[in-house]
Amino acid sequence: MTITDISRGLGRVVRPGDPDWDAARGTFNLLIDQRPEAIAFPADDREVAAVIAYARRHGLRVAAQATGHNPGPLGSLAGTLILNTSALTEVSIDADAHRVRVGAATKWEKVTPRLSELGLAALHGSSPDVGIVGYSLGGGIGWLSRKYGMQANAVTALEMVTAEGHLIRTDPVHEPDLFWALRGGGGNFGVVTAVEFAVYPLRELYAGAMFFPVERTSEILHAWTDLLPSLPDEITSWATVLHFPPLPTVPEPFRGRSFVIVMAAFLGTEADGRELLRPLRGLGPEMDTFAMQPPVGLSELAMDPPEPLPYWTTTALVDEMPSAVIEEVARISGPGSALTMVQFRHMGGALARPEPGAGARATLPGTIIALGLGVIPVPEAHPAVMADLDALSAAFAPYRVGDYPNFVEEPADVGAFFDPETWNRLRRVKALYDPEDVFRGNHHIPPA
Ligand SMILES: Cc1cc2nc3c(=O)[nH]c(=O)nc-3n(C[C@H](O)[C@H](O)[C@H](O)COP(=O)(O)OP(=O)(O)OC[C@H]3O[C@@H](n4cnc5c(N)ncnc54)[C@H](O)[C@@H]3O)c2cc1C
Repeated sequence: MTITDISRGLGRVVRPGDPDWDAARGTFNLLIDQRPEAIAFPADDREVAAVIAYARRHGLRVAAQATGHNPGPLGSLAGTLILNTSALTEVSIDADAHRVRVGAATKWEKVTPRLSELGLAALHGSSPDVGIVGYSLGGGIGWLSRKYGMQANAVTALEMVTAEGHLIRTDPVHEPDLFWALRGGGGNFGVVTAVEFAVYPLRELYAGAMFFPVERTSEILHAWTDLLPSLPDEITSWATVLHFPPLPTVPEPFRGRSFVIVMAAFLGTEADGRELLRPLRGLGPEMDTFAMQPPVGLSELAMDPPEPLPYWTTTALVDEMPSAVIEEVARISGPGSALTMVQFRHMGGALARPEPGAGARATLPGTIIALGLGVIPVPEAHPAVMADLDALSAAFAPYRVGDYPNFVEEPADVGAFFDPETWNRLRRVKALYDPEDVFRGNHHIPPA
């Protein structure tokens, strides 16, 4: 279907100076001061096409955005129009076929509770507030990843409006190169309007968190990293140092306190899960929330912040975390740290195994992904947070084996996210579908 010339409006467009400009350009990271030329809110596929045509007529580039959970890598938005997909929120679930179809702005929170009631689980990540399309196009790692891989590779079809205004459906049979490129190559090829993906039968699983005082970080990280090699793909565990802010919105047992927390999700029985985690439980957690639960319990397990906040991050995929790095992490993230969170997620399993038919983000290297986050509520906090983030990056540097683009929140050398063959193929697909480089994914892929 060609819809470029259909004379429909663009939908709502907000420009600098409009009363709702500041609300429209806000993102999840309050430190990002987005200043595009305009922000369009198309209501359907046709308005998406009209917005793209308008942008091209005016020499503007188009950056699709849903929730604004990762706008940092876009850098300057001069000459760029943001196409905000927030009106595209359809959700349909085919429980028998284990398939879900959602509109471009749908957040995980609109899908996971309904799936859970149906005895199904999706490959979502730590935050129910993240958009499914952006998450899927960048890879998507969560609680079931070691068993089932990345969400990008659970995608079964995508619908997208191209630079020419064509609405196309891409799947393993139709436009297979584009289907491959979108699943890892991000928002560089067009505006995705809907995604379809597989979900997995799951009535309940053994999941929860063990909380230890932050002073025990070194001991707990040693125990956790020692345990990892023995764990099957059915269990995904994360170790997190978390300094809860002293805010009334934080539940009482956590408010203003600091912990090192081991969280895990196990696809199996309580008895087997307890056995796998016995070495950690033997260390005597102060709180232990592990229990059999429906999959919706995973939505809040990581306790991600529900509201936007001002923060900066650092991240690295590492192949090991030796004792000296653990000591350095414990020092940097310990009592009095400028950071709010330092998290380590167990990788490997299906994340490291290329499957036939996978997209451009077929696998991720490393046994652990590290993520440090510092909240910067006032400018004066900036130097201390950046110093701690830099110290973390330096500690990981000798063991770094790559980056996971969804976690990289600043402009980066995007070619380095892919092996040379994948990068060259992505650029060839870009040249085929967007030779004029109209679309700016947050991690930009230029045409070959
Ligand atoms: C609190 C928090 C928790 C997170 N947890 C996880 C996690 O557990 N696992 C994980 O893998 N990632 C996680 N992420 C990272 C997240 O997956 C990325 O930030 C992702 O890009 C967010 O997508 P979005 O649509 O919500 O954000 P947006 O900023 O709206 O979009 C990000 C990018 O996605 C692309 N995009 C979005 N919509 C479209 C579209 N319709 N068409 C074309 N391109 C589009 C664009 O390139 C856009 O710049 C987390 C991020 C945050 C802030």
